[in-house]
Amino acid sequence: MNLILLGPPGVGKGTQAKRLTETRSIPQISTGDMLRAAVKAGTPLGKEAKGHMDAGGLVPDGVVVGLVAERIREPDAKDGFLLDGFPRTVAQADALGVMLEKQRRALDHVLCLTADNDELVKRLSGRRTCTQCNTPFHVTFNPPKNANVCDACGGELYQRDDDREEAIRARLKTYEAQTKPLIDYYRAKGLLRPIDGLGAVDQVFGRIARALG
Ligand code: AMP
Repeated sequence: MNLILLGPPGVGKGTQAKRLTETRSIPQISTGDMLRAAVKAGTPLGKEAKGHMDAGGLVPDGVVVGLVAERIREPDAKDGFLLDGFPRTVAQADALGVMLEKQRRALDHVLCLTADNDELVKRLSGRRTCTQCNTPFHVTFNPPKNANVCDACGGELYQRDDDREEAIRARLKTYEAQTKPLIDYYRAKGLLRPIDGLGAVDQVFGRIARALG
C-alpha cells in the first residue's frame, strides 16, 4: 500500500506514521528525519538544508525530490511506503506522480490529518523527539514513561531547533501557503481521506484504520 500522510506541523504525522509502519509493515519515509540526519552528519546537503529548516521554511524541491526518488527504490519499500512530510508543494506532488508512473506504481490513499492552529502550537512547543529513533513524545499529552528517555529505544529526548515559538509560527505560515493546496490537489484525484487529528493517539489511529478499510 502506497500512502501519504499530509497535514500541518504538529498534527501527529510522525506519531501515527510509527504506528502505521508497525501494523502494515511498510517503511515510514520522513523527509524531515532524512534532512535532520544529513544536518547531524554535516553533509553538504545537510549544510544547505539547515538554514531553511531553522527558519521554518522549505528545503528546495529538487533536494527533497532526489532524496525520495532514491529512497522509494530501496528493497524495503518494494511493497509499499508511507510518505511523512512529503510532498509539501505542488511541484513535489507532480514530481512524485511522475516518478511513480515511471515505476508503474500508484498512490492508494492520502491521509490528511487536521487540527486548529492553537492546538498545533501547544503540541509543537511541548514536543520532545528521540535523538536515536525520532519517535516523538509530548511533555503533557504523550509523556515518556521515564523523563527524557525514549520508550521505544531508550535514547535521549531533545527539543528540535524548529520546535521553538518563532520557527513554529513560520512553519505554520509555510504550511498554509505552500502545502495546504495539496488538499485540493489530492481531493481532485479522489485520493484524499480527511482524518480528525484531535483526541488521543489511539483514537486518531482508529480513524486512520477505518479510513484504510
Ligand atoms: P518535519 O520533520 O516534517 O516537520 O520537517 C522539518 C523541516 O524539514 C521542515 O520545516 C522543512 O524545513 C524541511 N522539510 C521536510 N520535508 C520537506 C519537504 N518535503 N520539502 C521541503 N522541506 C522539507
